[in-house]
Amino acid sequence: MKTFYSRLMFIFAVLYAILLASLGIVLGQLFPIFTRQRYSHGGTKEAFAILAESFEQDSILFYILLIGTLVVFYLISVWMASLIISRYIKPIDDISEIAIQLADGNYAARVYEDDLTGITPLSQSLNVLARNLQEVTQLRETEQERLKTLIETMGSGLIVLGRSGSITIMNKPFSEMFQLDGQNAHSKNYQDIGLPQELQQFAYRLLMTETATRQQLAFATPKGQRYTECYGAPIIGEYGKWLGMVIVVHDISELKRLEKVRQDFVANVSHELKTPVTSIKGFTETLLYGAYKKEETLLEFLEIIQQESDRLQLLINDLLDLSKMEQQTFSLSLEPVSFALIVSRANQLISHAADEKSITVQTTSVDDVVVRADENRLLQIVVNLISNAITYSPEKTQVSIHYAQVGAYGNIVIEDQGIGMEQQELGRIFERFYRVDKARSRNSGGTGLGLAIVKHLVEAHQGKIKVESEPGKGTTFTVSIPLFHS
Ligand code: ADP
Repeated sequence: MKTFYSRLMFIFAVLYAILLASLGIVLGQLFPIFTRQRYSHGGTKEAFAILAESFEQDSILFYILLIGTLVVFYLISVWMASLIISRYIKPIDDISEIAIQLADGNYAARVYEDDLTGITPLSQSLNVLARNLQEVTQLRETEQERLKTLIETMGSGLIVLGRSGSITIMNKPFSEMFQLDGQNAHSKNYQDIGLPQELQQFAYRLLMTETATRQQLAFATPKGQRYTECYGAPIIGEYGKWLGMVIVVHDISELKRLEKVRQDFVANVSHELKTPVTSIKGFTETLLYGAYKKEETLLEFLEIIQQESDRLQLLINDLLDLSKMEQQTFSLSLEPVSFALIVSRANQLISHAADEKSITVQTTSVDDVVVRADENRLLQIVVNLISNAITYSPEKTQVSIHYAQVGAYGNIVIEDQGIGMEQQELGRIFERFYRVDKARSRNSGGTGLGLAIVKHLVEAHQGKIKVESEPGKGTTFTVSIPLFHS
């Protein structure tokens, strides 16, 4: 690119050369007139020849001198002009160069502010302009970054459509929810990217009505059934101009699942309570209608009523226990607890049940392990697991208890030779009221809440519980509780 300086220098050099050349020509033309006087007095032919020869020699000398002087003068003038022009014109060149850079978006470019040239205010103004532009750009970039982060991390799927239904923004949760290629979908029509039919209809209604709408929609996705709450609203620009619409898809599958769990829980509790209550009511009514007169029947029925009320009490206690554990205020009094002590106390508590079925409960560990636990709650965990091992094992079998230190945890393993469970049941046995064999487990006298309570308690201890089982061979529960560090 030719600079202003080089253009100006070129024009000056050409004009100055023309000027000096003209001056040279004029002086050259005037030379014979000035010298006519000197060479006009003649006489003889020889004298005239001598005069003519010296005129010729003088003319050559004059022209050499004239051209030499003009060239030297021209060069000195051009050199000086170059210095002066460069001093005054260079800053203007710099300014135009910076202005071009600013126009290209390089807002970090700055002009050197020179006091001597007199164009400092212009340089200063340009620098202020550059600084302002840089600040505005940075602000815009920050805001864009913030908006982008907000859109990407908002947790819900978001899609923005133009007036014709073309996609202008699609965030990651949205593309992940419907397994779309976010990059590819950009500027395509929402009907061409393979959205679920229900969502397409929702978007279509929104485009047609141009009014904010909220609707719950269920989609079958490759990851299973998803329940969503969709909110769509038109985007209104300046002067009420309709620009497109935004749709936010909020995944409420987890909420729906929890709602289902709650409904199931209520249904289960009602069912569990109904059985003993119906039984108590039935036997009481039978007694009242006259059966009390027979002492034998009276005693038998009263025994059943007592058993059923015990069951009812057990169930209510377990429910209260579980609800207490789920409260925010539930806390454990953590202290150093010895596994050896817990196992020996648990053995005392279950010895009667084990003896009834001639089951041997054997502890194989020698070295004690001290964990950080709530003594009574840890005892509850171990007793629950040993009771289950006895309940779900045939007579004359063995239940082994083993404990050891594994990493930062104390592990206690309870292994039986009982009926075992199928692999697919293992993930569900910790759910409330879940029973593998409904009829048999209910007859075992349990409430169906034992393992749910155990899991809650283990987690409250920051521990872990694991189960391995094989039908007909037996079950092994492993509970890991953090070690106590003094
Ligand atoms: P329950 O009061 O019915 O025993 P739990 O919550 O303690 O309820 O256990 C849930 C279900 O897990 C039981 O109904 C039973 O089917 C199964 N289960 C638990 N422990 C064992 C075990 N050691 N062996 C076989 N099945 C077991």
